[in-house]
Amino acid sequence: MPTYEYLCQSCGFKFDAFQRMTDEPLEKCPQCKGELKRLISGGGGLIFKGAGFYATDYRSESYKKKEKEEKKSHSEVKGKDAVPKSKAESHK
Ligand SMILES: [Zn+2]
Repeated sequence: MPTYEYLCQSCGFKFDAFQRMTDEPLEKCPQCKGELKRLISGGGGLIFKGAGFYATDYRSESYKKKEKEEKKSHSEVKGKDAVPKSKAESHK
């Protein structure tokens, strides 16, 4: 479940909220009922990764082709180390 970070525009109260993607965003500060602003932080990254895993499972022809090209370029460019090992392990 993604974590959303909120910042109150009125009192500056900052907190994290666990919500489903389909949930309505919070609008009122739990402390002063002031207007909340949703911050884009780690939560957005989690959503993006989730979508990526789904695409991996789907395994379309274009994806396989792209994956092949990526592996090729990775072996050619050693030491660049842009992709962490954990990402490679997730490609199941
Ligand atoms: Zn507040």
